[in-house]
Amino acid sequence: MENLIKDIDIISGEEAQAVDYKTTLEENTGKTKKIYIESYGCQMNFSDSEIVASIMKENGYDTTSDFHQADVVFLNTCSIREKAEQTVRHRLNQFNSVKKQKPEMTIGVLGCMAERLKDKLLEEEKIVDVVVGPDAYRDLPNLVNAAEDGRKGVNTFLSREETYADIAPVRLNSNGITAFISIMRGCDNMCSFCVVPFTRGRERSRDPHSIVAEAQELFAKGYKEVTLLGQNVDSYKWSPEENNKARLNKNEVAASQVINFAHLLEMVAQVSPLLRVRFSTSHPKDITDEVLYTMKKYDNICKYIHLPVQSGNSRVLDMMNRTYDREWYLDRVRAIREILGEECGISSDMIAGFCTETEEEHQDTLTLMDIVKYDFSYMFFYSERPGTLAAKKYEDDIPLDIKKRRLAEIIEKQSKLSAERNQLDLGQEQIILIEGTSKKSKDELKGRNSANKVVIVPAAGLQLGDYVKVKITDCSPATLFGEVLEINPILA
Ligand code: SAM
Ligand code: SF4
Repeated sequence: MENLIKDIDIISGEEAQAVDYKTTLEENTGKTKKIYIESYGCQMNFSDSEIVASIMKENGYDTTSDFHQADVVFLNTCSIREKAEQTVRHRLNQFNSVKKQKPEMTIGVLGCMAERLKDKLLEEEKIVDVVVGPDAYRDLPNLVNAAEDGRKGVNTFLSREETYADIAPVRLNSNGITAFISIMRGCDNMCSFCVVPFTRGRERSRDPHSIVAEAQELFAKGYKEVTLLGQNVDSYKWSPEENNKARLNKNEVAASQVINFAHLLEMVAQVSPLLRVRFSTSHPKDITDEVLYTMKKYDNICKYIHLPVQSGNSRVLDMMNRTYDREWYLDRVRAIREILGEECGISSDMIAGFCTETEEEHQDTLTLMDIVKYDFSYMFFYSERPGTLAAKKYEDDIPLDIKKRRLAEIIEKQSKLSAERNQLDLGQEQIILIEGTSKKSKDELKGRNSANKVVIVPAAGLQLGDYVKVKITDCSPATLFGEVLEINPILA
């Protein structure tokens, strides 16, 4: 248990991912200036950094993976928990000495922390030159130019329309096989613990034709998997009337057709049977049987759903304003199992020690985990965020040591469940997509199966981007190991 508590920061997904999110792509197209970007937080932020790189490229900047060479350094930040903000402040401190040696370097804070703190950030962190929220990235070149002339700037305008639909992202950190496509922005849910509605604004869906075009372009470039991203993908909704009033042509037959998430999923799945499709995140109140049947209809839509429960107790869920209860959630899991079978991967987010949570209510989270048998979870203890509904209405009354103990119990339960779920894969034949080298050995490659589990296989004869039929021969709680049966079997 002691070890688990020490590991809590590592298991808390978003902060852990942050270290990977540096600009690793050196794009040298002969431009005179260079940007270096570090992204913290969720996949959405990573995807936004690719939009930022594209906007800056149009304005004369290449990307660099070495901040010493950069004219502009951007930190694309996360506010979801206090720890995420502390990490960024710590990083800004480290950049202090770099800036002392290179005073002309522009430092920008982007994303959720920029949106939350606005010009306060300029006052508190003297090293920062520009502060730009998630909907104002088109203004970055102007603000950077002004900063180069000695004028610091802030733009945290939140838009009801901006989706950056017309911007082709510069793929950063790319393996050339898997890519994210942002399908919507913002969030209209008001989960009481969550800062996202305040930092990323109102929910808006991106034009489906631009999404399909991006998927087609990625496939033409050799990518084999896209993940459709949004805070709540199941509430994706687009129609010319709602989203595009200005350009609406009343004579178009398609004018009144509303595209929901199931339709969009089908449109992207039809790009090619050789392009896998994933999506995240699904909200339990919104995921429909129509989406589940669309997943079943297409082999190239991966059978994996990230369905964050947050708590297994209905009273706590009500205080969290999640708008579903334990029974509703379990009914959605039953529908997933009925329509997609036992092999569909299910993962979750869990928050331990939310305001007023009792020991019995915490036990409800553990028993729900036993019923669902998650393959994987991101697990956190509650961190009060200023301005949220919970911060205004409820006392953050669970002592830190109890939050940590409950979180450790959740983590321990998840480790057991992951191990059990992986045991079920032993002996199975599965198709995986090879996406990188194993961390442990260059003689091994890693791929993912449909359920999003990592499978390690011997590298001989395989290339990145191959679909491989494997037999699962061994497993650890986090990983499957397989032997290769067939390379690029016919999938279409
Ligand atoms: N939109 C997604 C959803 O509703 O499930 C998740 C978005 S949020 C970026 C990712 C996760 O962070 C949440 O599911 C929640 O578990 C966690 N989280 C959000 N606010 C938190 C807080 N104040 N303290 C601890 N964890 C939090
Ligand atoms: Fe936050 Fe809830 Fe929106 Fe997810 S659905 S981003 S947890 S408010």
